[in-house]
Amino acid sequence: MSERKGLIIVHTGNGKGKTTAALGMGMRAWGQGLKVLVIQFIKGNRIYGELKTIARLGPDFEIRQMGEGFIKGPNDDAVAEHRRAAEAALQAAGTEISSEKWDLVILDEINYAISYGLVPLDAVLGLLDQKPPSLHLVLTGRDASPEVIERADLVTEMREVKHPLKNGIKAQKGIEF
Ligand code: ATP
Ligand code: MG
Repeated sequence: MSERKGLIIVHTGNGKGKTTAALGMGMRAWGQGLKVLVIQFIKGNRIYGELKTIARLGPDFEIRQMGEGFIKGPNDDAVAEHRRAAEAALQAAGTEISSEKWDLVILDEINYAISYGLVPLDAVLGLLDQKPPSLHLVLTGRDASPEVIERADLVTEMREVKHPLKNGIKAQKGIEF
């Protein structure tokens, strides 16, 4: 087997596909026998299709929704609750990353948590700097900070060309959730 180098991977930009591309990567990795953990920031109790899919894949692919749901931005009325949830998610991420139980960890929507001020950028940079060398780590969400991008090995910016919402088309089951 070729030598393994754990990559820091960032999916950012204003177009659709950041989370689904990360989940696709998780699917590919799981098929190769890697252990995959997804920790979702911001996302709360809404049932996304991927939760049901992953539940059927056994213990080597796990997803944890640790957010409080939709947040309007850094001045949301419930920002304190969102901050508590995001801090707990970040702590869980730190524990799981250093446990060396996982080969691929996806921190979904963490870039929003940083840009909305729910988690300190420095704490996230600390996670990146201290991750086990063989662990692949994916961070998703718009507005990835330059410091995160600087540390990453692979950065993809999704760019919106068209989005159905702009034409008033509602979120479609199986495509958006
Ligand atoms: P997906 O989960 O479908 O891969 P995403 O992770 O790229 O999307 P997020 O920024 O996490 O997108 O946004 C969450 C929701 O916002 C998704 O339902 C997504 O379809 C929607 N969304 C993403 N990009 C746009 C856009 N340019 N305009 C409107 N809605 C968008
Ligand atoms: Mg997303």
